[in-house]
Amino acid sequence: MSRVAYVNGRYLPHARAEVHIEDRGYQFSDGVYEVCEVRGGRLVDERKHLARLERSLTEIRMPVPMSPAALRVVLRETLRRNRVRDGLLYLQVTRGVARRDHGFPPPGTKPSIVVTARSIDRAKLEGQAETGVAIVTVPDNRWERVDIKTIALLPNVLARQSARDQGAREAWFVDRDGFVTEGSSSNAWIVSKAGAIVTRPAAGGILKGITREVALEVATQQGLKIEERKFTVAEALAAREAFLTSATQVVMPVVRIDGSKVGDGRPGAVARALRARFHDTAELGP
Ligand code: PLP
Repeated sequence: MSRVAYVNGRYLPHARAEVHIEDRGYQFSDGVYEVCEVRGGRLVDERKHLARLERSLTEIRMPVPMSPAALRVVLRETLRRNRVRDGLLYLQVTRGVARRDHGFPPPGTKPSIVVTARSIDRAKLEGQAETGVAIVTVPDNRWERVDIKTIALLPNVLARQSARDQGAREAWFVDRDGFVTEGSSSNAWIVSKAGAIVTRPAAGGILKGITREVALEVATQQGLKIEERKFTVAEALAAREAFLTSATQVVMPVVRIDGSKVGDGRPGAVARALRARFHDTAELGP
């Protein structure tokens, strides 16, 4: 079956889905995006993702390009046309096509909206969760506004490649004081020696992950002790467990950091329990 992409009001064959070379996303990374998990053909936590999209747009001084109701129709139609049961949905909004000039384009310039969807191999992902993944640490050299889900991801791209080059799945950014901020496309967590779940506050230095938010709810329901505070790489190395969260990986155990084992080198009980119960709490769309 051939894939279909939504591009500015039209559903096009994926291979012919294009935007102009002077799109500001292409020229300046002048845009924002969202990624949602798709489970059983339904979007997970769509409402929260659309609320974050609206926030990102506001922060980059862009209006919301279509009503949430219309957008929800497009998202569903993109899933339907691609027959995605388990997978992910990608949504990107840029400041549109205009003659290259750093300042905002003339009023009336239409934003560009692209939506794609693709299936993932759930069995493979579950297999990874069974064994856990390795991560490496890299200096956090990003700008200050990482709370905005912008498509300007070059530091994240370089960090991820550095992880891949070292046979790891993800890279955790570390700020100049030695504290872990987050992954290149995920939030970072540990379970302390005392058994508390620790993750950096979303007050700066990280993207406020939707999966992070829901995982905190699940942890609260499970009666786990939660500490929203910064942690160092040394603390992560000495932790009982480590894990990461993102819409595509849900809760993924981390079993190695920079080549050293975390705990006994196997996925921990807390991460496994959070993963197992996550979708009881996440909102499933119609
Ligand atoms: N942090 C960064 C830098 C990300 O890119 C992502 C997701 O892409 C996350 C955290 C996790 O966010 P979410 O749980 O909403 O997918």
